[in-house]
Amino acid sequence: MTRGIITGIQRLCLHDGPGLRTTVFFKGCPMRCRWCHNPETQSPRPQPLLHADKCVGCGACEAVCPEGCHRMEGRRFESARCSQCMRCVQVCPSGALEACGQFWESALLADRLARDLPFFGETGGVTLSGGEPTFQPEFALALLDELKARKIDTAMETCGAFPAALLDALLPRVDHFLWDVKDTDPERHLKNTGYPLAPILDNLARACAAGADVCVRGIIVKGVNALLEHAEKLGKLARQLGAGDCRLLRFHPYYSAKLTSVGRPDEAMGQAYVPDDKTMERLTRTMQNAFGRACVSPGESCSQIQGE
Ligand code: SF4
Ligand code: SF4
Ligand code: SF4
Repeated sequence: MTRGIITGIQRLCLHDGPGLRTTVFFKGCPMRCRWCHNPETQSPRPQPLLHADKCVGCGACEAVCPEGCHRMEGRRFESARCSQCMRCVQVCPSGALEACGQFWESALLADRLARDLPFFGETGGVTLSGGEPTFQPEFALALLDELKARKIDTAMETCGAFPAALLDALLPRVDHFLWDVKDTDPERHLKNTGYPLAPILDNLARACAAGADVCVRGIIVKGVNALLEHAEKLGKLARQLGAGDCRLLRFHPYYSAKLTSVGRPDEAMGQAYVPDDKTMERLTRTMQNAFGRACVSPGESCSQIQGE
């Protein structure tokens, strides 16, 4: 049995792979996307989350925090220096501070997920998301084995940023990959995610060449990569590699509230970065022309958002 950390389980998901699915959000990610929709999943350790609407302003968290992360004046929570000691969570009387991150044994988690088997039908199953599931490789592989032992269909939402050797272990265990290519321009990719593009594309090419069921997805952020050239490159890439599907996702402003909860209120990109319907339509048409056909999978919006 292998232990790992997740931020939550979401049931009845329609856009995280084929059919009706239950999605598990792994904690930990090697990337730092500026527009990250689940910032609470970036750190692989438990961390405090602030629900400001429940705060009664008692000041207990400010009194115990050794790093000065909580300030009652203007009720600011800034986690840059947070050591994740969890003292603030322990003293909070109202539940405004919550510990984000629960440890699970892989077999027990699979048992919990298998309770949803009656809902999965012919096509549904479990999707590993995050964060980046491969950031906890032993836990991800163990959970996939446990799911397979229970005859559950498996999907993985990945940014593709993992060691090349891990792909060989994933291929027989993952039935569907939802593969997010954050950008097709290497410079923009590195600048906006902190991670190089080349190894991600190498992994993607190998997965497609091995015959994996891959949906290539690209998140579109206004003022960053909402460009016809990018949409065309993504469609071409998916066609050349033989991916089964290709689709665009729209940047979601919901993450701004999450950044406040994790103590990074000044990083929010906001509504100004959301592409409008017309832009999404033009980019989708361009991508589909380059890909050679329309998208197969349903929905447009970014379905990986936990708690949406
Ligand atoms: S978990 Fe972070 S914010 Fe909370 S008391 Fe410890 S250092 Fe301060
Ligand atoms: S301890 Fe909880 S209720 Fe008290 S000020 Fe901090 S967050 Fe608010
Ligand atoms: S890869 Fe996903 S979880 Fe990781 S930083 Fe980017 S958007 Fe967030």
